[in-house]
Amino acid sequence: MRVTDNVALLKSVAQSRAVAAMFVIEPELLRAAETSAMHLHSWWDALTALQQALRDRGGELYFPEGEVVEVVDTIHGKSPLCALFSHEETGSSITYQRDIAVAAWCGRHDVVWREFPQNGVIRGLLDRSERQSIIRERLIETDVKPAPESMPPWKIDGWSATLPTIETALGRGADPMLDTRALQRVNEAAGQRDLSSFLHDRGLGYAGGISSPNTADVAGSRLSAHLAWGTLSLRDVFAQTRARQSALSDTPGDEARQWGKSLRAFRSRLHWHDHFIQRLESEPEMEFRALSEPLSNLDYRDSADAHQRWLDGLTGLPMLDASMRCLRTTGFINFRMRAMIVTTLCFGFRQSWHSLLHPLASVFNDYEPGIHIAQTQMQASVVGINTVRIYSPHKQLLDQDPDCIFVKR
Ligand SMILES: Cc1cc2nc3c(=O)[nH]c(=O)nc-3n(C[C@H](O)[C@H](O)[C@H](O)COP(=O)(O)OP(=O)(O)OC[C@H]3O[C@@H](n4cnc5c(N)ncnc54)[C@H](O)[C@@H]3O)c2cc1C
Repeated sequence: MRVTDNVALLKSVAQSRAVAAMFVIEPELLRAAETSAMHLHSWWDALTALQQALRDRGGELYFPEGEVVEVVDTIHGKSPLCALFSHEETGSSITYQRDIAVAAWCGRHDVVWREFPQNGVIRGLLDRSERQSIIRERLIETDVKPAPESMPPWKIDGWSATLPTIETALGRGADPMLDTRALQRVNEAAGQRDLSSFLHDRGLGYAGGISSPNTADVAGSRLSAHLAWGTLSLRDVFAQTRARQSALSDTPGDEARQWGKSLRAFRSRLHWHDHFIQRLESEPEMEFRALSEPLSNLDYRDSADAHQRWLDGLTGLPMLDASMRCLRTTGFINFRMRAMIVTTLCFGFRQSWHSLLHPLASVFNDYEPGIHIAQTQMQASVVGINTVRIYSPHKQLLDQDPDCIFVKR
């Protein structure tokens, strides 16, 4: 969803006489419970900007509709494909199964499919001791790649270069609680703006500011949606953070010390990003079963009524309800409140972690399957290696919002 540091785009341009860029509108993914109108708002925002960036370089971005195998089969029938280029995706079972089908189709038709890693997640990792050196090489020692200067276009007759409306693509209406004006902008320019404002202004309050929902939306980097949908690359975020840290290192004074503390804490969270996605990459079944076998049969009492009440923010627990309404309206809430939502639902309402996965994914505008599934299991205490930690919604209200500013808002 970006032109800068997009290795798949650069390689395809360098190795081909003509390139057609496409974002496939996949019915199965759009119908999935994890996908929502909120996500599509971000995708459409990012795609509109990407299309303009490709047109500025002489190229085009197409939006064919259909499952990916059908789409490539149709185009191959009209004009044989030489190669497919894409980034490596660690997704939920829908995109994982689609990738298996695409690989099989490419094998049958002798089409090379080249996938490029876009972060520190390693496919087919056998020796965990090699992970750190691979990550260092990819994210720290390799420079951010510039955008290609031009793109040799491949015009495909009959393919649409116009996005359908979100409602048409989804085939269902939007969530009535969603306020599209409150959604974060998710495109390449917005990603660079958010990164810069964080590194030079907002990030001063990061250490100590990300626990409360009253401050986290400003003191936190707010890069999660950009990283999830690909409008910023992790390598670029590391590079700009390092540059800022080195500029601050010679600056004396309390403020520079506070910046140092905040940016160190921020960098460690950037490493968590890949750490959690790697779990899903290495163990895709974790979408369906708890990582810990003995903890996979806890006594849950799933109920449709309880589900609807927490989704609508009508449980009567102020901090839980406010957090859910904030999510439904804006697509964002800070880490601590996400953890509180899961622990309160699993341990207070006895809802199973698995029943929360997709409804929560659909209201997170930064939905990243690897982080989301791993964190939901971890907060539900079914991983088996972390200390059981249950966040009380009452204590969180007293600690993080004692004057009820967030709850009232
Ligand atoms: C149940 C649950 C589900 C979650 N689902 C998602 C999800 O779908 N997508 C998502 O990006 N984050 C998820 N998180 C992690 C975290 O809450 C968000 O990454 C964070 O709140 C985003 O705000 P920020 O960009 O300001 O983060 P910052 O604090 O500024 O952190 C910088 C970046 O580091 C990464 N990061 C931060 N915290 C974590 C973490 N705990 N685990 C892994 N990576 C982290 C994110 O990419 C984030 O953008 C989840 C957490 C919980 C408890």
